[in-house]
Amino acid sequence: MVVITTQKPTEEVIDALNNFKIKKLVVVSCGVCSALCQTGGTEGLERWTDILQEKGFEILAGIVSEDVCDNRVMKKDLRKIDDAVKEADGILTLSCGLGVASLVQVLSKNYPNKPVLVSNNTEFMGMTERIGRFYMRCIGCGDCLLNETGGICPITTCAKALMNGPCGGQLSGKCEVGNYEEDCGWILIYNRLKEMGRLDLFSKLRAPRDWSKTGHQRQVVFR
Ligand code: SF4
Ligand code: SF4
Repeated sequence: MVVITTQKPTEEVIDALNNFKIKKLVVVSCGVCSALCQTGGTEGLERWTDILQEKGFEILAGIVSEDVCDNRVMKKDLRKIDDAVKEADGILTLSCGLGVASLVQVLSKNYPNKPVLVSNNTEFMGMTERIGRFYMRCIGCGDCLLNETGGICPITTCAKALMNGPCGGQLSGKCEVGNYEEDCGWILIYNRLKEMGRLDLFSKLRAPRDWSKTGHQRQVVFR
């Protein structure tokens, strides 16, 4: 699984840095998911270093972290460049939103006012078949339906996230949303359940989804 990110337009990031009056900065690049998406890692760090220096920004330190979303790793990594962090007007993270959240938390004790900005848009959790192509297959909804749908997620493969599809918009197995270019998720589910001899699950009426389980401020604590 990879958290899929795409790079924000350069000018949007530069505007954000200017908005926070950041001239000297530290760049923290994700060495895992964003590296795979080429929005972070060493490649992203080099690309942003060139862009920022060309625009007149001063980079005090640039690091690729092996786990930006693990606070323990971030703490260790930032300790090594503490002087630069102290002097910097802000941090630019080349990661998903988790990396930013992690940095904000790690910095909150010693540098509570230090702005942490992001260079990427976080798209979704992705499955991959080959490098450079990712598919949205799960949003972490908190109430997984895969045991009833043949392992195909209706939340991400149906454009309307329907519970009892297909809707009247499907045509020859294609979805009306996006002009019939994508497969209808519910036809995929039907075919899969048919192959498994479990069309009884397809016919099952599912109650409207309780989206509160997909709500915000969720956390999981393993004891
Ligand atoms: S139903 Fe879909 S979105 Fe929800 S947890 Fe399962 S795979 Fe993920
Ligand atoms: S055509 Fe299929 S995938 Fe598209 S919205 Fe309707 S049920 Fe969902």
